[in-house]
Amino acid sequence: MKDYKFLFLLLILVLTNCEDENEVSPQVEINEGSWVKYSPIKWTHDGTPISGTFCKVYSDEASNALKLQCLEFADKMFGEILAQFSFNDLDDLRLPPENDKINVYINTEHEDNIASAYWGTIFITIRTIALDTNRYEYLFKHELTHEFEFLIEGTVNLGTDVWFREAIAIYCGGGFDYINTIDDLEGWITANENFPGQGNPIMIHVWDDFPDGCDITGYYCKAFDITMKYLLDPKGLNKSFQDVLNVFYDIRDGDSFSIAFQNNFDLNLIAFEDEFYDRIRDFLTD
Ligand SMILES: [Zn+2]
Repeated sequence: MKDYKFLFLLLILVLTNCEDENEVSPQVEINEGSWVKYSPIKWTHDGTPISGTFCKVYSDEASNALKLQCLEFADKMFGEILAQFSFNDLDDLRLPPENDKINVYINTEHEDNIASAYWGTIFITIRTIALDTNRYEYLFKHELTHEFEFLIEGTVNLGTDVWFREAIAIYCGGGFDYINTIDDLEGWITANENFPGQGNPIMIHVWDDFPDGCDITGYYCKAFDITMKYLLDPKGLNKSFQDVLNVFYDIRDGDSFSIAFQNNFDLNLIAFEDEFYDRIRDFLTD
């Protein structure tokens, strides 16, 4: 299960930074016809989307049964994310003006394997006739957590640092257990001795900060994972989902990420970067 989740995480490559995706992904467009406004992915759909509570499922070739199964699952997963954030004010979610729901595009036939989120839309490749909900829970929740952030900030480009947005999406997806001990942590540091900060995740502020030669989010997810655990665990910084949500709201209101993070986590971002490994060592020692 863990390996499977990690493999899927490898697919979650250029997920949420539209600026980067616009630069690197024009080849993804294999059919004419703009469908999604805020993504370079403009795959055509079959003209028969189905709409649920929060989501609306589009596909190229998925059967109606698969679309319905994905719709029920996506609605359930997004509902669980809202519950995790104790979020009830649905009118305060800022969908793009042309959306009436969160679009969920089920890619079944296109060659590319994708899992990505944009303002108002997530794309997920599903090759099977029926949805294996155990296997896809992580992926749906990860992308729908990104979507939740998009809908709070109401923006085409997310305002959080890459490490933060990935860390909360990994956490809400269910997390991993790669770094559980001091030895795990020291192993990570040693393995990344040639990377900036020896793999310090807080140094990944924007997409271009990923070191050359690393497979970006798929690789750094180990470190992103332990970071959000530290921030939210009572034995760590003991912050809450409300604090995460307030970061999103402060960004909506115009704050930079560093200001929003400091105001809600009572921690200077530069200090956190400098102290990162010492803080995680202490966290894992307790
Ligand atoms: Zn992600």
